[in-house]
Amino acid sequence: MAVYSYDVVVLGSGPAGEGAAMNAAKAGRKVAVVDSRREVGGNCTHLGTIPSKALRHSVRQIMQFNTNPMFRQIGEPRWFSFPDVLKSAERVISKQVASRTGYYARNRIDLFFGTGSFADEQTIEVVCANGVVEKLVAKQIVIATGSRPYRPADVNFHHPRVYDSDTILTLSHTPRRLIIYGAGVIGCEYASIFSGLGVLVDLIDNRDQLLSFLDSEISDALSYHLRNSNVLIRHNEEYESIEGVDNGVVLHLKSGKKIKADALLWCNGRTGNTDQLGLENIGIKVNSRGQIEVDQNYRTEVSNIFAAGDVIGWPSLASAAYDQGRSAAGNIVENDSWRFVDDVPTGIYTIPEISSIGKNERELTQAKIPYEVGKAFFKSMARAQISNEPVGMLKILFHRETLEVLGVHCFGYQASEIVHIGQAIMNQKGEANSIRYFVNTTFNYPTMAEAYRVAAFDGLNRLF
Ligand SMILES: Cc1cc2nc3c(=O)[nH]c(=O)nc-3n(C[C@H](O)[C@H](O)[C@H](O)COP(=O)(O)OP(=O)(O)OC[C@H]3O[C@@H](n4cnc5c(N)ncnc54)[C@H](O)[C@@H]3O)c2cc1C
Repeated sequence: MAVYSYDVVVLGSGPAGEGAAMNAAKAGRKVAVVDSRREVGGNCTHLGTIPSKALRHSVRQIMQFNTNPMFRQIGEPRWFSFPDVLKSAERVISKQVASRTGYYARNRIDLFFGTGSFADEQTIEVVCANGVVEKLVAKQIVIATGSRPYRPADVNFHHPRVYDSDTILTLSHTPRRLIIYGAGVIGCEYASIFSGLGVLVDLIDNRDQLLSFLDSEISDALSYHLRNSNVLIRHNEEYESIEGVDNGVVLHLKSGKKIKADALLWCNGRTGNTDQLGLENIGIKVNSRGQIEVDQNYRTEVSNIFAAGDVIGWPSLASAAYDQGRSAAGNIVENDSWRFVDDVPTGIYTIPEISSIGKNERELTQAKIPYEVGKAFFKSMARAQISNEPVGMLKILFHRETLEVLGVHCFGYQASEIVHIGQAIMNQKGEANSIRYFVNTTFNYPTMAEAYRVAAFDGLNRLF
């Protein structure tokens, strides 16, 4: 067994691991990264964010081709299979792996491909795919091993028609009817993807409103547009059993209903990848979801061991994971590249896209904050009309006395980009956070950003 010595060893090469490794390497530390997959990028690149966003992009292009009258001159509407659109996702994954591999090489970070576990607080044993075991000794270790779909024992995931968000990427045909169990962000995103391919989707939600953490108006808009695309949303339902049959899956609900489809996609919860880490050898405990507790410095209960990304739980987003990993390393190298990540925008890549930051109307009303609303509807905006993207709205919530921007909620074309303008203003200190910014600043025209000016005038006009 070879033994290597490092300042910092990072377990996992997803966004959290990459953020940690790059920051530590830039600060002059000798760094190694271990990943159980033979390529870098983590589940983010191979199974989660990247494939789902690439699939969505292709599906939207197909929808545009099929619904825009201009394209009829070059051909009739065409339907594409799921494996067809998957090919374009695979191309993006390869490009991402190539770029990210380059970052590690450029920063002289050693990569070990194998499963890492703790022998003791400073020693990681890596079992490589060829069975060789390497020993890495490090002063500090960052756990960034991410998460995987939660699989309850009473669901048979070995049945060929029962999928989760990892295995759906192996689907080799296009089902005519699909049950998506779980209407969280991942369930809603896949409902958009499959319905965009013409699949009849039953979306099973165990609550009475889709994504109830969103502003109600936006959640209602999502429900409307999903229904409009042939998604049947069934609220307040829970499974009794999932029965795999020869030609499909039957979902038995506690309410007594039975639903049959060609396949079922399970999107109900995730669990931290901690079971193979040998945490019992170092005394780190995990919660019932397999997640590790950290303090605001991303330090675990063992002082030289840090954790970041999905393995620590909320918000379980790639966006946050990168910054958490970077911050964990910032604490290790004691430079100023540290912050506790708690101001994360919501970006949901359904069709239509959704994004928000700050408080919603429900929260502000409950807190008795005197706010006002300004709205801009995309259907009236030049850039949206040019792009043939009339669906959507930007809503700004602001304090009616101080004019402070309290929340920005958006759905429709480019929503996840548009929200950052509002976020930048909300992050300004004192009077610099003001809705007046949007009427006192000249934006490019025509742009989707114009929605801020329209919404700001709409809101300011309500004041008296
Ligand atoms: C379908 C889907 C869509 C998503 N869409 C978005 C989105 O649009 N935007 C967004 O911000 N987030 C999105 N997410 C969430 C995002 O993918 C995760 O938050 C992100 O991947 C977490 O990054 P991470 O670095 O913590 O870990 P991961 O990306 O999970 O990577 C962890 C890595 O560690 C490796 N590993 C595990 N155990 C070991 C071990 N013992 N030894 C060595 N290596 C190990 C794993 O193989 C993996 O490569 C999505 C997730 C899913 C499932």
